[in-house]
Amino acid sequence: MSTTDSPYEPSPTLRTSTFTCLRCGLSVSALAPGGERRDHCPSCLTSRHVVDQVRGGRSDCGGRMVPVSVAVVRDGAWMLVHRCTLCDELAGSSVSRDDNHLVLMRIAVRPLADPPFPLDLFGEV
Ligand SMILES: [Zn+2]
Ligand SMILES: [Zn+2]
Repeated sequence: MSTTDSPYEPSPTLRTSTFTCLRCGLSVSALAPGGERRDHCPSCLTSRHVVDQVRGGRSDCGGRMVPVSVAVVRDGAWMLVHRCTLCDELAGSSVSRDDNHLVLMRIAVRPLADPPFPLDLFGEV
């Protein structure tokens, strides 16, 4: 296993490198428009398990990571939470400007659309 292409150290080839989305097959540039590294597909927001979130460094899993939730981080930016379909590991990744807004909103409202308790309770408070 090579240690030269750590995901934390952008290689000179990063600017031109692309990856193919595991879900929709889109060819995705590894750099987002803002210059930050992109780790998920901007169309369907699917990612791939290549970074070990627990120990750090590279993961050999390679499983498909599906977006399960969005979280708001301290500066107000949205963070996308992925879960690996093979090993269930969770990962957070920053949302890019050109990420699919419709898919993002669908993930964000999902808990509100299907609450585990009756919503009419709110009528009494
Ligand atoms: Zn995709
Ligand atoms: Zn995994």
